[in-house]
Amino acid sequence: MTDELKKEIEGARRSFLHDLEHVQSPEQLAALRERFLSRRKGQVSLFLARLRECPPAEKPVAGQEINRFKEFVEEALAGAEAARISASAPWSDPSLPASELPVGRLHLIADIQRRIEDIFQQLGYEIATGPEVERDEYNFTLLNFPEHHPARDEQDTFFLEGHDDLLLRTHTSPMQVRYMLAHPPPLKIVSPGKAFRKDDPDATHSPCFHQVEGLLVDRGIHFSHLKGTLEAFCRSFYGPDVVLRFRPGYFPFTEPSAEVDISCFLCAGKNSDCRVCKGTGWLEILGSGMVHPQVLRNCRIDPEEYSGFAFGMGIERVAMVKYGVPDLRLLYDNDLRLLGQFG
Ligand SMILES: [Zn+2]
Repeated sequence: MTDELKKEIEGARRSFLHDLEHVQSPEQLAALRERFLSRRKGQVSLFLARLRECPPAEKPVAGQEINRFKEFVEEALAGAEAARISASAPWSDPSLPASELPVGRLHLIADIQRRIEDIFQQLGYEIATGPEVERDEYNFTLLNFPEHHPARDEQDTFFLEGHDDLLLRTHTSPMQVRYMLAHPPPLKIVSPGKAFRKDDPDATHSPCFHQVEGLLVDRGIHFSHLKGTLEAFCRSFYGPDVVLRFRPGYFPFTEPSAEVDISCFLCAGKNSDCRVCKGTGWLEILGSGMVHPQVLRNCRIDPEEYSGFAFGMGIERVAMVKYGVPDLRLLYDNDLRLLGQFG
């Protein structure tokens, strides 16, 4: 009985291998599986049914033979299935187009900074950058903030422990001093970078923020040059129709000084519910003025011979005004849902 069963199993094995070799589609593979492993009519089940006819002494051996055959069929089918899947896997098709990689973009702050730099470079300005850890002298004294002058209070400062003379610069203006001390006029620079103040973070303040500073010194420079320059910049950056408004202001290092507003680029003052200008029609965007004669003298430039103008703006402020960013802190949260909209 067992010998007979053995022969039949051997025959079934040869038949199975022959058919497996000629399988050409997933459907044929499934049919082969059905023919050998189906619970009701599969070849393995038929062999198992025959076990009942075996004499008890032969049953264990016959059972083992059938099980070995079943395992053989299962393994061969699994191997054929794996080979079929790997042969059709996408990575093996070199003719497919490459999958798309996400592309990064500039952070809004960096983007605005570069666009401001571009406009001034087209106007012939050089980019000059300087240290963020600055000497008191460059940050305050030479810019006409004498020691104990109340104007220093407005720029509450981080000093470096153990170095009374060293601080995190409170504005980018120290670069005016550094540049004037190192270069004789005429000079035209914009100086972008980080500045730091001891402000508690809220919707419009941050202990670290970004500024762009501009300085021009030459013979015969007067206020109309400042106006013309800022008009050219604002029209290029905010739109050709913006109108500028100069209001008297105060900075220790410029005299006279002016705060500059632009007409609202969204509503031009015609919408009392405007979300950008809140209905006022004007947007405060920068501070400016003629370089104070004392600052020129501090930088070894004769104010009788040379004059100049300077201006500065906060990049976060520009972002909030131009793109309607309601809270400055959003710019530092690294939330790609926000940052991915810009740049
Ligand atoms: Zn408006």
